[in-house]
Amino acid sequence: MLRVGVTGGIGSGKSTVSRRLGELGAHVVDADAVGAELAQPGQPTLEAIRERFGEAVIRPDGSLDRAGMAAVVFADPDQLAALDAITGPAIVARVRALRAAAPAGAVSVYDMPLLVERGLWVHEHLSVVVETDEEVRVRRLVDQRGLDETDARRRIASQATDAQRRAVADVVLPNDGTPEDLERVVDALWEQRLAPYAANLASGTRSRRPDRASDCVVEPRVDWEARAGRVVARLAAALAPTGVVTEVSHVGSTSVPGLLAKDVLDVQVGVHRLADVDEDDVRESLVGAGYVFNHGIHSDTPHPEGADASAWLKQFLGGCDPGNHVHVHVREHGSAGWRFALLFRDWLRHEPREREAYAAEKRRLLEQHPTTSDYVVAKEPWFEGAWQRANAWAERTDWQPR
Ligand code: ADP
Repeated sequence: MLRVGVTGGIGSGKSTVSRRLGELGAHVVDADAVGAELAQPGQPTLEAIRERFGEAVIRPDGSLDRAGMAAVVFADPDQLAALDAITGPAIVARVRALRAAAPAGAVSVYDMPLLVERGLWVHEHLSVVVETDEEVRVRRLVDQRGLDETDARRRIASQATDAQRRAVADVVLPNDGTPEDLERVVDALWEQRLAPYAANLASGTRSRRPDRASDCVVEPRVDWEARAGRVVARLAAALAPTGVVTEVSHVGSTSVPGLLAKDVLDVQVGVHRLADVDEDDVRESLVGAGYVFNHGIHSDTPHPEGADASAWLKQFLGGCDPGNHVHVHVREHGSAGWRFALLFRDWLRHEPREREAYAAEKRRLLEQHPTTSDYVVAKEPWFEGAWQRANAWAERTDWQPR
């Protein structure tokens, strides 16, 4: 099942996007609707609200006075936090149950206004942010939803900013145009990314880059760091309960600003013992996060030449997202392969001349080796020399893996 969080500021068009995704075939769970359900008379959540906020927020028929409650919490952040502390965990539990009921290969959409504020985006494979100019939102809320303008502005101010949402967005859907414009971008997202991603997850197929090296080696992209940051945060969150992970890091060429690279993010997961990966909970966490094991790859090329190969073992996984190619290298913390991944990155980050030399070598090899697999093999001899120079640098600068 593909988990997609849809969020956006109030009035941005988030519900409109979720509705369209539902029409396209997604299984949609709406956090606001769940909140309303939990506030029905007889629900333990409503009883907790009554205890904390008093009878003033309960209507004569025993249901929650939503407008009265809103007036209390939107005027006072402490009251809002108190309400969230009551409703947040209850909503999370109910949402989890509803989403678990979605069919196996489904796209499970979670329509959640506070996806960013609560940090819940890390549990989604993708976060989709609907972004609309604030003045447009105020106008739509006043004209179409009958909100008072001051109230609309106050609610907007109480939420995360566009910049905060954008920082964790895998996809930004602009909604300043017509409803038809919005429908078009949602349909394209479904067709190009959500449906193929869900199909890859269901069949255990990793997304592949083209096999022409020159098609996938590109000039440095400005979004590599942010994209990798989200991958790292999600893997760390998925694996945290297993207790076997020492750290998750962005490594490889895309982690070196200014270096041309294949548009594939490399992420290293350090584990206490490589055998930990064979534990059921660890495997399930990795697969659940959207990765597929490649059991044909068990090792990196040892350096220096002839070194003990057992220090260079790893497990390799590929991501299933057709819009973000990710390779995950699980290595034992402290092993030679683990250390070199971190050293290579830090060395190139700090040594502009080495960075340029590596880029020049990549360009030269690209001309000679048109397919990605040949190109990857052809890079190896250069790495032997690089290993020597990087280690000399580590000694000179007293570098330690961090
Ligand atoms: P949210 O769920 O983010 O609060 P909604 O999806 O309810 O926002 O949208 C807010 C209001 O704006 C709704 O009345 C909706 O029908 C309307 N709306 C959404 N997108 C557009 C658009 N592109 N043009 C005009 N109105 C829109």
